[in-house]
Amino acid sequence: MVIATLTIRKRTMMKFKTPLLAIAALSLLSACQDGGVETGSAPQNSLTTSQLPIWVSQIDSDTMIGTPKIVDCTLSGGAKTECVSFTLKPQPASFEIGPWCPRNISDGPDASGIWLNDGKVYDADGQFIQNLASFYGDDNWQLFDPATGKINVTDTQLSCEAAARPDVDPAYQNHCVECQISYLPDGTSLTYVIPLTPELAPNISSRVDHGGVGVTFSGARLDASAPLEAILSAYTIAAFDDCGGHINPNVGYHIHAVTEADCLINVKSESDHAPQIGVAMDGYALHRRFNSDGQDPADLDVCRGHATESLAYHYHANDPGANAILPCHTGQTGCALDEDGVCDASASVRRGPPPGAGGGRPPRPEGRRP
Ligand SMILES: [Zn+2]
Ligand SMILES: [Zn+2]
Repeated sequence: MVIATLTIRKRTMMKFKTPLLAIAALSLLSACQDGGVETGSAPQNSLTTSQLPIWVSQIDSDTMIGTPKIVDCTLSGGAKTECVSFTLKPQPASFEIGPWCPRNISDGPDASGIWLNDGKVYDADGQFIQNLASFYGDDNWQLFDPATGKINVTDTQLSCEAAARPDVDPAYQNHCVECQISYLPDGTSLTYVIPLTPELAPNISSRVDHGGVGVTFSGARLDASAPLEAILSAYTIAAFDDCGGHINPNVGYHIHAVTEADCLINVKSESDHAPQIGVAMDGYALHRRFNSDGQDPADLDVCRGHATESLAYHYHANDPGANAILPCHTGQTGCALDEDGVCDASASVRRGPPPGAGGGRPPRPEGRRP
């Protein structure tokens, strides 16, 4: 894996912006005026009421578009509340992304990304591509030219879009799927709308919805699980880079696995506790997987959340091989909007873009058939 070459160019932690401090003050004020905790909110999370604006201010400023603001929002469980809204570019500015697909079966792990299978992380290098038929026990896998070793890669916008949609164009079966940020329309962005004060979900969904898992301080979208079955059934590999991310034609770069690669901004938390790496879509903090003892905390709930003596309820990222950075959210989630609009995460449609294979089409209005 190419870990050494990835560098965090800019660390923005502790670089608070004035408008956000104003928002923090504002949120404290509104919490007081409301008498503190609304029905359904998590009592152990009074701390987070004022922390979200600070966390948002720690997101890489070069990835942020405009200034975060407080907006009205409706969460996934129907709670009408206030959210912090902020907009990010489709590519994080704080670290280098890629590589994804190797070009020849002779290419080593430095020229390739990774692949996830059955809970394990594999280098998606030339040798891995060469061995796919035996790896999956299916002779239909043939991603390379046996004469030259050249690997089929979707290296144009057209091929990326055709292969990244849920019903892969048959012409692009047996390809390694790779898309570039340059394929996205100019001005593509995603606006995250996240509750200022977490509200417990009336019932915990068994999976993360299309709004995704959350956002890292390093400016990257943490997405729901990649649809691996659909990808594999088309004899495609939508390789992830060593950071666990890849690009789709709708939302841009997004991460499906939190790996050890240096793509995160770690914010120190309680001593010996895993550092915080970002915020989840329900407004709770998201930490790295392991504490300093190299273990998962023992008391994690089904969504991989817990509270400690000094830390309010928060999550720990899952095993990178799991293809689920979080299995679920315990709180009601906000929205990831790909166009201007008000966040109503309780609406059955327009929940934000889907996780996508190398992509996956968003639920666009009719007239743009996949
Ligand atoms: Zn913890
Ligand atoms: Zn994806």
